[in-house]
Amino acid sequence: MNETYDVIVVGGGVIGTSIAHYVSKMNKRVVVLEKNTIASGASSAAAGLLGVQAEWDTYDPLYDLARKSLRMFSSLATELRTATGVDIGYRENGIYKIACTKEEVERLRETMQWQQQAGEEAEWLSGEELRVREPSVSDEVIAAVYYPTDGHVLAPELTRGFMLSAARNGADIREYTDVYGLLIDNGKVMGVETNHGTFYGKQVVITAGAWSTSFMKVFHESYGTYPVKGVCVAVRNERPLLNVPLFKEGFYIVPKPDGRYIIGATVVPRSFDQRVESGAIAELLTKAKALVPEMEQAMWDKAWAGLRPQSETNYPYIGKHDDIEGLYACTGHYRNGILLSPISGYMMAELLDGNESYNLLERGMYLESTN
Ligand SMILES: Cc1cc2nc3c(=O)[nH]c(=O)nc-3n(C[C@H](O)[C@H](O)[C@H](O)COP(=O)(O)OP(=O)(O)OC[C@H]3O[C@@H](n4cnc5c(N)ncnc54)[C@H](O)[C@@H]3O)c2cc1C
Repeated sequence: MNETYDVIVVGGGVIGTSIAHYVSKMNKRVVVLEKNTIASGASSAAAGLLGVQAEWDTYDPLYDLARKSLRMFSSLATELRTATGVDIGYRENGIYKIACTKEEVERLRETMQWQQQAGEEAEWLSGEELRVREPSVSDEVIAAVYYPTDGHVLAPELTRGFMLSAARNGADIREYTDVYGLLIDNGKVMGVETNHGTFYGKQVVITAGAWSTSFMKVFHESYGTYPVKGVCVAVRNERPLLNVPLFKEGFYIVPKPDGRYIIGATVVPRSFDQRVESGAIAELLTKAKALVPEMEQAMWDKAWAGLRPQSETNYPYIGKHDDIEGLYACTGHYRNGILLSPISGYMMAELLDGNESYNLLERGMYLESTN
């Protein structure tokens, strides 16, 4: 099969489909090549937290990017619902970051002060004050900060929304299409080789998540992504237990609009094993019960594992190849790819269209001047 496109996207997770969504709005011919099914990687495993303030404890260039991305969700939710009928389950009612030890309280205070100095909204609550708002929370929680502008979405639905929107705008979505290699001639990308033949294109974007390493080595020998396995569980409860997600260092409980509570997540670096260990389930449920005792009566829904794509530089690779014309990458978003997906898709669409200010690779990371 010989096909010719303006843009070939390698990988159909939230990042690849977001790029396809924004590129397809520019009336370009775009194809997403996905070796399994759309959202079969990390993007369907994510809890969907949009935790700008909950995630970053100190200033980091990614913080600004995350803030910009979060601001895009409200209009994006409306746009995707109108265009595709998909409800991405966007909730903008905040996140509680909680502390259960004196040390955690100290760290939480420091983080809150830094954020308030940076002009962010953050409200300090004692454990008792939190329990007035969230009566199911146990005495283990001794303090919390409420970040009112953080939120959450349904990660698989967001990816599906991006994909359907792109398809409506004319994008081709090819599942079970495994990209084996890049077609490069005279320092210029010509397309990709797949199990379904050659796809020709002027521009190729690598968005293969944890599986991006072989492609990223073409950019730089030290580049690559590796998987950080995470297990989540979901339970259901008839009586509402939480209004707003609880987030603490290394752990969270996220109430979803359909009555599920997503509890996550374990962290196992450099493991491609996607099986779910019973020990991981036990660990998550024990932690959940300690924070919300009624969790013990909640009904089992399911458990799953996913692979967060971490980059070897700890920052996502967002940009273009220095020497190979037409070769781009947008991968390595680790534990914030859902949050960062709108801004990543938008910036890549702009870069592919010639706006060089979005070539973050050139600046070696960098983000201060993105706007
Ligand atoms: C347990 C867990 C919880 C998380 N919670 C959150 C959260 O609350 N908030 C948040 O913002 N983020 C969260 N994340 C992180 C988020 O899920 C990821 O950062 C994001 O999904 C990465 O998207 P991606 O498109 O880069 O990768 P993926 O979704 O993994 O997509 C990459 C795709 O590329 C395909 N592919 C790979 N190689 C090839 C090839 N050669 N040819 C064709 N296709 C290929 C794969 O099959 C895959 O579908 C979580 C992740 C995990 C695992």
